[in-house]
Amino acid sequence: MLPPLAHRTSQVRGSAIRDLLTLTARDDVISLAGGLPAPELMPHRRIRDAASRAFDAAGVLQYSETSGVRRLRAVIAERETRRTGSPVDVASVVVTHGSQQALSLLGTVLIDPGDVVIVDAPAYTGALQVFAAAGAEIRAVPVDANGTDIDALEALLGTGVRPRIVHTVSNFHNPRGVTLSAGRRQGLADLADRYGFWMIEDDPYGEIWFDAPPPEPIHSDRVVRLGSASKILAPTLRVGWMTAPYPVAAAVELFKQGADLCGSSLTQTVAADLLDDTEWLDEHLGGLRRAYRSRCRALTGALTSAFGSSVEFDDPTGGMFVWAAFTDGTDTSAMLSTATDHGVAYVPGAAFGSEPAFGHAARLCFATVDESVAVEAVDRLYRAHQADVSA
Ligand code: PMP
Repeated sequence: MLPPLAHRTSQVRGSAIRDLLTLTARDDVISLAGGLPAPELMPHRRIRDAASRAFDAAGVLQYSETSGVRRLRAVIAERETRRTGSPVDVASVVVTHGSQQALSLLGTVLIDPGDVVIVDAPAYTGALQVFAAAGAEIRAVPVDANGTDIDALEALLGTGVRPRIVHTVSNFHNPRGVTLSAGRRQGLADLADRYGFWMIEDDPYGEIWFDAPPPEPIHSDRVVRLGSASKILAPTLRVGWMTAPYPVAAAVELFKQGADLCGSSLTQTVAADLLDDTEWLDEHLGGLRRAYRSRCRALTGALTSAFGSSVEFDDPTGGMFVWAAFTDGTDTSAMLSTATDHGVAYVPGAAFGSEPAFGHAARLCFATVDESVAVEAVDRLYRAHQADVSA
């Protein structure tokens, strides 16, 4: 018999989405399932040029600073200063291997086993995995059209629950598609002061707004903000970052030494080159916003025409996701195999938390489907739903 694994390995569930991606990677299936950015909108040539320049830079093949290549940290500090409207010091910036590693390191440095962590319902599955791995007791508060329901959070706190962390995806939520209102951002920061918890503002989608930028980030000295190059440049760079109060940034740096010594100088130098080229970046982001807006409208328009009132959703104002809730009792987990038989895939709501209501919902990602494919995907979904209802 083999020796045992650590106890914590039994606390973490695999990501249902990762498992699903292998199932739905068939050529004849239109996948609305993966949260993947559109490959044809990634700045392939610009990245290649930046990589070729990066190869000429001294030390690019060498180990680098644990907290990230200096130039990239400076560019991030400058962008975050502009975004938040208050100065962000380079010392508070840690570059990570995607923002997923930032979450994982925060799980290590902020959570003791048994600590309560409050997440959204529905929640980002990657956050659920991290908090489960850290041994947290996970509680959830609902998300509505204006983001995390702060009254529900206050009510939960009123019952004596004392979280170490409240995690939220503030802009164009994954999977719920909505944005936390300015008033609720302030309300959340006030609750953090009153009850003494950390906030993780997980924000990989904030730049992908359709008509207007989202409200300013949460203002607080208790907030750790996460950002990522994955959705605006390319996931393969594995460049994410956090801006955090100094003690958190210092602890994260220490544990990052143990995790990977340092990130890749090559991809960090490439990311710095692109993020620092504001004229190019503005144009690139403009194109991305227009394309995603048009794909989103094609998908939501087709959903309304096909399903009428039997599917409800809040119109996304940015990001990559529509959260479609069936009002006719459809069980989206049960319907998935019929859907893939009809050539379309989505992520069943049940993957994002345990609320019974999520069993009637599906996360639809519009990023990788152009307008005509989006319409075809909804047509297939409609036929699958008809088949499911009559089965
Ligand atoms: N946070 C959220 C809310 C996400 O949706 C994702 C990616 N799907 C991540 C973090 C991690 O992304 P990355 O590691 O590529 O930055």
